[in-house]
Amino acid sequence: MGTRGTEIVGMDVKELLDLLNRAFCDEWLAYYQYWLGAKIVKGPMKDAVIAELELHATEELAHALLLATRIIQLGGTPVNNPKDWYKFTNCGYDAPNDAYVKVILEQNIKGEQCAISTYKKLLDKTIKADPVTYNIVLTILSQEVEHEEDLQALLEDIELMVSRK
Ligand code: FE
Ligand code: FE
Ligand code: MG
Repeated sequence: MGTRGTEIVGMDVKELLDLLNRAFCDEWLAYYQYWLGAKIVKGPMKDAVIAELELHATEELAHALLLATRIIQLGGTPVNNPKDWYKFTNCGYDAPNDAYVKVILEQNIKGEQCAISTYKKLLDKTIKADPVTYNIVLTILSQEVEHEEDLQALLEDIELMVSRK
């Protein structure tokens, strides 16, 4: 733990660690949902969808790393047992039971929208209290906003393609 770095945090550090750990669990579940989705997805424009899902999986894992690093800086412990991911998650996990591209995209869009809401709340909580966490969360949020739009644009293209046949 960085002692001075933790002292300057103007909010309850335990509460902040709890919020960061919840987001950390979200990121692992999002990573797995994208990773598996990329393996099983079927249907029109599959290759473009796979490329996007794989990239997003990598980016969710990078978010988990950013959060773990901040949790450790603040003297916390990143959730250390995957069985707790379900317990703490905000956004849950949508098992890709239906491999059709549109279903996979819709599930992941829902996940991104939950992530955007979660990180916006965390930004509002930290804007004055903890500029270091704020900066990390802003970086992540910017990418979640990009993810949502990427997936919605793909879904729109697929719908245009299917409806104009
Ligand atoms: Fe993420
Ligand atoms: Fe995302
Ligand atoms: Mg993307």
